[in-house]
Amino acid sequence: MRTKAYIDGKWVGGKKTFKVFDPYSGKEIAKIPDLGVQDAKRAIAAAHKAFAKWSVMPAQERSDKLVKMACQIEKRLDELARILTLEQGKPLEEAKFEILWGVKAMKWMAEEGCRIHGYASCDPDPDRSAISIRQPVGVVSAITPWNFPFYVPLKTFAALAAGCTLVLKPAEDTPICSLMLADLAEEAGIPKGVFNVITCKDPRAVGNLLATHPIVKKVTFTGSTEVGKHLLKMGADTIKNTTMELGGNCPLLVFDDADLDKAVEGAFNLKFLNNGQCCNGLNRFLVQDSVYDAFVKKCEARAKKITCGSGFKKVNLGPLINENAKKKVIRLVNDAVAKGAKPVLYSQEKGLLCSPILLRDANTKMAIWREEIFGPVIAVYRFKTEEDAIRMANDTRYGLAAYFYSEGMKRCMRVARALEAGIVGVNTTNAYSITLPFGGWKESGIGREGGIVESLNAYCELKAISFAR
Ligand code: ADP
Repeated sequence: MRTKAYIDGKWVGGKKTFKVFDPYSGKEIAKIPDLGVQDAKRAIAAAHKAFAKWSVMPAQERSDKLVKMACQIEKRLDELARILTLEQGKPLEEAKFEILWGVKAMKWMAEEGCRIHGYASCDPDPDRSAISIRQPVGVVSAITPWNFPFYVPLKTFAALAAGCTLVLKPAEDTPICSLMLADLAEEAGIPKGVFNVITCKDPRAVGNLLATHPIVKKVTFTGSTEVGKHLLKMGADTIKNTTMELGGNCPLLVFDDADLDKAVEGAFNLKFLNNGQCCNGLNRFLVQDSVYDAFVKKCEARAKKITCGSGFKKVNLGPLINENAKKKVIRLVNDAVAKGAKPVLYSQEKGLLCSPILLRDANTKMAIWREEIFGPVIAVYRFKTEEDAIRMANDTRYGLAAYFYSEGMKRCMRVARALEAGIVGVNTTNAYSITLPFGGWKESGIGREGGIVESLNAYCELKAISFAR
């Protein structure tokens, strides 16, 4: 297990360290360097120096190195999955799933790195030929969260595939997965300075530097809307190019013409993924009057079978990430109950564990309607008509994803278009693909990750070149 930061191809300790804990047992796993602004400046300088060579390396050669890294990840799957479960808590099978998802994404991004296109225009002026080309933006900084501590940092390797270099600051709860990525990058022969990892306990000083340093040409951030807004303000002085993957408040709509079993199946597949801690996860269950009771009943029967415990045991749910996460879940549930929600299932678990909580008769006055829950809570709201459902679904400052179930073809077309969200799942909650643009509308973000057109273009500048004939 790597426990040092990685700057300019060297493993770097720090005078100060901070502890990382196993969220299930509360035991210390490792001490990690608590680095500061000077270290981050060194990492930016190293990335800048490395950019000179990496950006002009033949795309196929860069791609080969990234594919090699992906193959190494596959080979070391079991070891990496154990580290992921240990520091983040998710069940081991899900940890493997997350890592294999990363392998696929990395291979795909590496291939896309060989297909970055501009165009030749047919200029109306006969004295001129004109082309547009795309070039890597330069040094990219990445600030990533704890919920997918392997996949989200890995997704930023799109920057490397496009010819940029990276300085990554992982979340303080889960830095080790990112350090393992550095280990894998080194193993795959990715040159020093191309990928750097800075670790620190308090993200503010280093985060500000990564968002403001003039050499950093792009910031890619995944995390809360509040921190995203702060980073956008910080980056304004240097007009930073940004990709912001922020919070969500995603609805699931179940219409009276839905296949209820499929809807419950889909709901459970996503709701309980990652212990209920996904930004594109289900936050609000909107169910049509006539199928409301049946839906709640099916959810109750299904939820009773969900087990929670150590991620190393055969369970569906591991612990939540930290004390604050658990406090938030309890606050939202208590507020909902005080305002009239009826708990169908609600039991207290020890430590950071949280078994499924099912609330019926939820309403839009409750804090749980507006806030991202990030826990295994199903709050079920009622709607009467399709218009109500769409109005309610869109009644949020967020717009990351939305999902719905209906067997009516025309309704599916109508509702998919009416929802204000960057990602829509129709009769599925499995709507994520590296080949499609992932990102939010409204306060859920700016820009996209993944997607045939968007993925690598997000890390390129455009240039128009005119040649005199
Ligand atoms: P979450 O609610 O998922 O913990 P955060 O937005 O707080 O989301 O954290 C996501 C990432 O942003 C983490 O890497 C965290 O360290 C970092 N972060 C938090 N606050 C700041 C800040 N003020 N400046 C820069 N980065 C920050």
